[in-house]
Amino acid sequence: MTATVERLLAPNPGLYTGQGTNTYLIVSQDEVLVIDPGPIIDDHRETILKELHDRQPVGVLVTHTHPDHAPMANPLAKSLGVPAYGYSNGPEFDPDRNLRDGDRVTVGTAELRVYHTPGHSDDHLCFLLDEVLFTGDHIMGGSTVIVDDMSRYLASLERLKGLEISRLYPGHGELMDDPRKVVVEYIEHRLARERQILEAVDRGAATVGEIVEAVYADVDDRLHRLAGHSVAAHLAKSVDDGFVRFERPEGDPWQARVARMGH
Ligand SMILES: [Zn+2]
Repeated sequence: MTATVERLLAPNPGLYTGQGTNTYLIVSQDEVLVIDPGPIIDDHRETILKELHDRQPVGVLVTHTHPDHAPMANPLAKSLGVPAYGYSNGPEFDPDRNLRDGDRVTVGTAELRVYHTPGHSDDHLCFLLDEVLFTGDHIMGGSTVIVDDMSRYLASLERLKGLEISRLYPGHGELMDDPRKVVVEYIEHRLARERQILEAVDRGAATVGEIVEAVYADVDDRLHRLAGHSVAAHLAKSVDDGFVRFERPEGDPWQARVARMGH
């Protein structure tokens, strides 16, 4: 490794964030990059500043612009006098430098390589450092990923299968040491969900909500409403595949109706 990785857990535990958001410091030759400083929480800002010690910050990166990852990036970067990097602007983030697939960001003698991995969100990035990958919410430790665009999500997972990596650092949860197995399981999990969803429709589920109740029995009830978004993403893909009729609504898809093609 040309750099070391330090993890700082943001104090924002919750249903959607697990123990909280993982903020990472990538350290090489006394320079530091910060990944995902999280929401604006004074204590966490203090922790990050303290853990920089007398090392030189060189940039603040965000994996994506969801509120548990990005809002502190601009104020932190500004106070450190370094650029904030991300794919594009979001509700509470405006990058000083836009990152694109294949871009590189250097820290000391190390280099982060940027992978655009849409699916969880359109603007999602993963960062490769030597043989470790920072996955944001594309792959999480120990919780379900809510997917916005299933076709792109699966394509982004497939792409990771080709990387020579030995460790994943997720945006939530613990690091994972068997990336290939994890990625394959994620893909299989999605394909299994897709089958379950089509089976639920065959058995009479006629709305997204009915499908969630039939298919997500193994997931905490409080996440069901949110899981509706992943079901809608699966259904949108199944429309493209010619399996169902479904019009994805703006906003909460819970009541949206679905029917099997040819039934
Ligand atoms: Zn997210």
